[in-house]
Amino acid sequence: MVKVEIDLEGCIQCGRCYDEACSDIFIQTDDGTSNISEKYRTSGPEAGEVPENMFDCAAKAAEECPVDVISIQK
Ligand code: SF4
Repeated sequence: MVKVEIDLEGCIQCGRCYDEACSDIFIQTDDGTSNISEKYRTSGPEAGEVPENMFDCAAKAAEECPVDVISIQK
């Protein structure tokens, strides 16, 4: 499994992760902040685990986040 985390305080609601890079893992909240999709959450909306075959999706979002608040760990 691959761990995915969002530092929610740093998210600037740009939408790149959930609109463009990886909508399978990241979802938009009412105020535009990104959350981990409910099915992958391990605790709160900022932390989750996804299968290995979704690593590229998560990595793309991490790369494209303009403020580097998405972290992934195999
Ligand atoms: S790409 Fe980064 S800043 Fe933009 S919505 Fe996603 S987590 Fe927030």
